[in-house]
Parts: sequence; C-alpha cells; structure tokens
Amino acid sequence: MRFANSVTDLIGGTPLVRLNSVTEGIEATVLAKLEFLNPGGSVKDRIAVDIIDAAEASGELAPGGTIVEPTSGNTGIGLALVAQLRGYRCVFVCSDKVAPERLAVLRAYGAEVVITPSAVSADHPDSYLSVARRLAEETPGGYMPNQFANMQGPLSHYATTGPEIWQDTDGRITHFVAGAGTGGTVSGTGRYLKAASDGCVQVVVADPHGSLYSAGDPSEHAAYDVEGVGMDFFPDTFDRSIPDRYETVDDAESFAMTRRLAREEGLLVGGSSGMAVVAALRTARELPADAVVVALLPDTGRGYLGKVFDDDWMRSRGHLADATGAEAAADTG
Ligand code: PMP
Repeated sequence: MRFANSVTDLIGGTPLVRLNSVTEGIEATVLAKLEFLNPGGSVKDRIAVDIIDAAEASGELAPGGTIVEPTSGNTGIGLALVAQLRGYRCVFVCSDKVAPERLAVLRAYGAEVVITPSAVSADHPDSYLSVARRLAEETPGGYMPNQFANMQGPLSHYATTGPEIWQDTDGRITHFVAGAGTGGTVSGTGRYLKAASDGCVQVVVADPHGSLYSAGDPSEHAAYDVEGVGMDFFPDTFDRSIPDRYETVDDAESFAMTRRLAREEGLLVGGSSGMAVVAALRTARELPADAVVVALLPDTGRGYLGKVFDDDWMRSRGHLADATGAEAAADTG
C-alpha cells in the first residue's frame, strides 16, 4: 500500500511547470513552482510544520498550548493544519484586508479568528502584530510563532524549497524570482541556490508598488491590494544580502497576470503569484534561450474569488480598466 502517514508528510516536493502562453516572445525557459499544491494550499505549510516542531523541541509549545499568530491567512492555514493533528488550539489575528473566504477557511480548520484594522502602522496598539502579542501573553500556554522573527521560516526554505528547485532544474536555474512577505522564501531559497551555484543564481524580489522592500524609504510607503507580500518594515526573516534586484509591480499588472495564469495556463493562483510572474517575465525578456527563470507561486486563487477574480471588486478598486493596459504593457515588456 502506498500512503502518507499524515497530511504533514505531504508538505513540500511541489512540481515545476513551464509557462507556455504568457511567455510569448521570450526565449528563456520560465518555470513556475506550484506551492498551491501543498495540502493547505500555500507555501506556508512548509514553515508551519518546522516552526511547530522547533517550538515543541524548545519547550515553548507544550501539550494543551494555544498558538496565537498574526497572519494574512496562509500561515494560519498551515499552523491550523499541524495544530489540529497535535491537539493545540489556534487563535489567528488578521487585518481587515484579508478576504472573507480566507477567514472562513481558517475557521473551517477549527481556528478562532480576531480581526484588526489594516489602516494602522505595525507599532500601533490595534495593529495585527500588537494584538497578537497581547493575546499570546494573556493566554495561558500561549505561544506566538511570530513568523516575522522566527528563523525557522528561512531555514525551512533553505532545507526544502531551495534543494527541490536545484534538483528539479539539474542545477540549470539562472534566476529565482519570488515575492517577499516575511522574506523567508526569498532569503532561505535564495541563500541555498546561491550556495549551490557558487553565487551564480540571481535572486529577484518581486515587490508591490508602495512596499518598503523596494522603496527603501519609509516616506515612499503606500497602500496596495496584493496580499501576503511587501512590507512597511524590515523583519528579521528578510536577509537583505540575498536579493540582487527588486522588480516593483503595480496591483493592476499583478492582478491582470493572475487572471491570465488561470485562463491561459490553467493555474488558479493568488495575486502575489501574478506579481511574481510579471517580475519573472520582465527578467526573462532580457535573457538568452539557455537561461532558466524559476518563479515561485505562493498560493491558490480559491481564496480570492471575491477579489482578483471578481469584476465588480476589480472595478471598485480601479484595477480593471488599468488591467487591460497593464496586460498589454506586460506583453510588450
Ligand atoms: N504570497 C502570499 C499569498 C503569502 O501569504 C506570503 C506569506 N505572507 C507570501 C507570498 C510571501 O512569503 P514569505 O513570507 O516567505 O516572504
């Protein structure tokens, strides 16, 4: 009989697929790493299991404990999935930007959800970070993984995501492109790929227009609608020595590409995946035929049916009219 002993054994080992339609006019090979094929539907399953293992080993998380975490949804799903199997209670603090479908998913996995305003800065007492910290302190047996400071995140990508890409491309990858939320994906995967290639692999960070990562200056921070990526501070999990380049992408461009991935490539993924692909195509357009560009697609699009894939929402946010133009712009580079 061939079966996994538990759902956590099915995390990672995600495949690469070549993009064939959105890459028109590009000579280099552009591959997408499909993280929506993890059991919880996102790349965050990877860090969830490693973070919980480490917290159990250090004694920070004990039987009967409660996991409290600020999360835009995906880390919550990963943590809830693991917590459930091991008997922990989960309380997740989400900003009001997170789509209702995604909150429903967290609740479906048995987690409790607390909503906080997104219009306040990270150090404000009502921010999702501050509220989560307070709840973790006040709850007996409370443990906050704090994905923005937990080095198990980047380590998890160094141990799994990086080697998977290196092996699956037979060491031929030349460019790695990904968005950064905590920065764990970019830092851990990028570090591994650079080490494996003697520094040859170039790491490109796809970043929403308005995020501090690519703006560099807090005064240029602005709001954007792509979820899970970009930041208004530099977390510990983001290793600034890894990226070689940043590609700033507008919401309209990210969302237009997200829709194209569903319609042309059969990949129903979230907005940060569209953003990563826009950056990957910009990168690939300049490269020769033997270049191999790998873009990491972090999550499934099923959590965004009422947003990116909904014309009314897209119009209400001013992304639809722009989207056509952005599509054309993305096409011609
Ligand atoms: N995309 C989505 C949808 C996410 O939820 C996240 C994680 N916040 C990322 C991208 C970025 O991953 P990382 O935290 O490893 O930088």
